[in-house]
Amino acid sequence: MVEINKNPGAIAGVLDTARIKGDFPILQRTVHGKPLVYLDNAATSQTPTAVIRALVDYYERYNANVHRGIHTLAEEATAAYEAARAKVAALIGASPDELVFTRGTTEALNLVAYGWARQHLRPGDEVLVTPMEHHSNLVPWQRLARERGLRLRAIPLTEDGRLDLAAMDGLLTERTRVIAVTHMSNVLGTVTPLAEIARRAREVGAVVVADGAQSVPHLPVNVRALGVDFLAFSAHKMLGPTGVGALYARREWLEEMEPLLAGGGMIRRVTLEDATWADPPARFEAGTPDIAGAIAFGVAADYLRGIGLEAVAAHERELVRYAWERLREVPGLTIYGPGPEHRGGVISFTLEGVHAHDVAQVADGEGVAIRAGHHCAQPLHAHLGVPATARASFYLYNDAGDVDRLVQALYAARKLFVRP
Ligand code: PMP
Repeated sequence: MVEINKNPGAIAGVLDTARIKGDFPILQRTVHGKPLVYLDNAATSQTPTAVIRALVDYYERYNANVHRGIHTLAEEATAAYEAARAKVAALIGASPDELVFTRGTTEALNLVAYGWARQHLRPGDEVLVTPMEHHSNLVPWQRLARERGLRLRAIPLTEDGRLDLAAMDGLLTERTRVIAVTHMSNVLGTVTPLAEIARRAREVGAVVVADGAQSVPHLPVNVRALGVDFLAFSAHKMLGPTGVGALYARREWLEEMEPLLAGGGMIRRVTLEDATWADPPARFEAGTPDIAGAIAFGVAADYLRGIGLEAVAAHERELVRYAWERLREVPGLTIYGPGPEHRGGVISFTLEGVHAHDVAQVADGEGVAIRAGHHCAQPLHAHLGVPATARASFYLYNDAGDVDRLVQALYAARKLFVRP
């Protein structure tokens, strides 16, 4: 029998998780009659009451289109939408006019590939990617490479799943135009040295396109300190709603970028024959945006700033250290990726003799939500030599008691599937 930690906060955790859990209505529910333990935060995070209220408040009090009307509701909606842009930009140390609202990380990365790189890259130019990219920072580059005759090259990983920077140096040439790299792997949890990568990229005149889907929600991120050219992230992974996200881009690049969508809201002047584009960021936000979602995204940013990203990161570091020790006790369990000192709050693993989907299903039966599969990183799983992994991913409301419940579920899975 696994011993349950009676005082979770004392073992792991910088944050007052009991209080924080109270802010998240969904964490009060049960699943299969057991209190929910939510450990699928890398897929999507849960939503605090303040964010849910912001969505409702918009529809109840000032639902109107933005940037168009001159009536009170439209002015209030526009002010709230632009205030949200400023809040989200401030969270990453950017100015509001450098931040484009998108549908999420995927759209933001496609906007870089098709809005910027398609104009700037020539046949024979090289794009460096990594084997641990989420498909959304890989497939757009593959597509563009086919269309424009580019060459994709992959920066190798070290044995323990970190980027091999020495090998990257060997790949960097004057043909390298883009380094498309995740800031934190959604499978291995590896945190990449973005500032160092950006410094080396600058030496050869390449730009860095960073996937911040997993880093911005969990670490203090400052685009100026990192020196990246582009950074993409999603609201739904950082306590906000689904369907909205952001692209940070250096102003000089934004000025030169082409929109993906054309239509209302993104033009300066239109004649029957022709049109000119509005200044960024409006140029990239054609049509009616997800107004309520963007406003709620701003409230999520406020919530995170209130707690502090330093504290969130420290809390998850403690939790990962604890989970690491507890998981390694489970017979037949293999953890992929680097040690706790080089990773964020993500742990992917396999359990010998139990398929990852069965692990997740047994865990669900115990009220523990984890994910299983390739996590939109098939090349990485090919590299690891496993078709699927189970993944536990943490956030600010998780504590050591949640880890204990996961470990208990894994013993339950072993009991069901592994013959003694
Ligand atoms: N990149 C990474 C590292 C991710 O984890 C995810 C979400 N799983 C994405 C990109 C895609 O984000 P979205 O689905 O919100 O566009």
